[in-house]
Amino acid sequence: MTTSPKTHLVGLTRDGLKLALEKSGVETKQLSMRSNQIWNALYVQGVTSFDGITTLAKPLRQEFGDKFDLARPEVITAQVSRDGTRKWLIKFGPGVEIETVFIPDEDRGTLCISSQVGCTLNCRFCHTGTQKLVRNLTATEIVSQVLVARDDLKEWPKAGRNSDTRQITNIVMMGMGEPLYNFENVRDAINIIADGEGLSVSKRRITLSTAGVVPMIERCGAELGVNLAVSLHAVNDELRDQIVPINKKYPLKELMKALENYPGLSNARRITFEYVMLKGVNDSPADARALVKLISRVPAKVNLIPFNPWPGAPFERSTPAAIRDFSDIIFDAGYSSPVRTPRGEDIMAACGQLKSESVKQRRSDRDKAVADTTSGEAA
Ligand code: SAH
Repeated sequence: MTTSPKTHLVGLTRDGLKLALEKSGVETKQLSMRSNQIWNALYVQGVTSFDGITTLAKPLRQEFGDKFDLARPEVITAQVSRDGTRKWLIKFGPGVEIETVFIPDEDRGTLCISSQVGCTLNCRFCHTGTQKLVRNLTATEIVSQVLVARDDLKEWPKAGRNSDTRQITNIVMMGMGEPLYNFENVRDAINIIADGEGLSVSKRRITLSTAGVVPMIERCGAELGVNLAVSLHAVNDELRDQIVPINKKYPLKELMKALENYPGLSNARRITFEYVMLKGVNDSPADARALVKLISRVPAKVNLIPFNPWPGAPFERSTPAAIRDFSDIIFDAGYSSPVRTPRGEDIMAACGQLKSESVKQRRSDRDKAVADTTSGEAA
């Protein structure tokens, strides 16, 4: 069987790690020291097995190795775009595959990670939206995406990197899935990624993007303390109901009210409104003016995203002139309104292009698959 019965230590919070060690028989007075050694090995050194944890005596490495797992997930494909963007297809188990993207820029490097396999939201312009939800990712699986990217980018000290020369400087939860529908796992993963004695990506450099799960927005600000981006895409309920269907549940008025009250909001810490530019659908000057009015009570930035096509998509990208006019109106109203340059399009790594082949199996199919493998093993 592929699933390991051992507890995976990646993705456990500091308390969770101590608890796992305690359960395995580590003495109370040694818990802090042992968990610090393992934490450092996992998140500062990037080890993938206990053999690599030289701060532990050999017999202890053996003992922990029998009980715990530190291994990376399988990387099915690693692609590099002609603009330097990278995309990994990562497999966590049978039928559980997701994509992670790294976008290098002159002054920063952004890792875009996934929170779910598939998605429930069905936004009409999004490729992931055509893939049904398979399941939430665990904290292990969310954090592992960062580790896989660091491996491939040779970001660990043994490869000669230190914190000043690292390529991954920012993290965005903008991959597959809706992070606020997987709150606890996303919270634990973010706290691990932001830990100053570990992966050390500060919360100021982490952005979570939501399509607008209103009841979770306050908790997101209060408990996560990360930057918030909101996938707005339409300025009235009639259109937003159609292209971002979660709007039927949480209409614009409720969404804007939740954003006005987002904990920690200030002029120094603004909400980013993402707005995909769809030709002839939401890109008129009147839409731009309505957008300015809609967000007027929230310290905000606007990020315009030219629509990225995918096979069978029912939309086209707005013309450069329409995007420029739209951006000018927002800029003239006093907002920063950068247009996001499409990156990694040749490898389908741009915003909204991610998708994996994973499908949710019906229970009967799953049972059959298990029966097949078992009989194969027996043969
Ligand atoms: N579910 C979350 C996280 C996904 S973020 C959310 O909706 O915010 C992915 C971002 O890319 C979102 O802003 C999404 O609306 C945008 N996007 C989706 N499809 C796109 C496409 N085809 N072209 C450009 N942007 C797209």
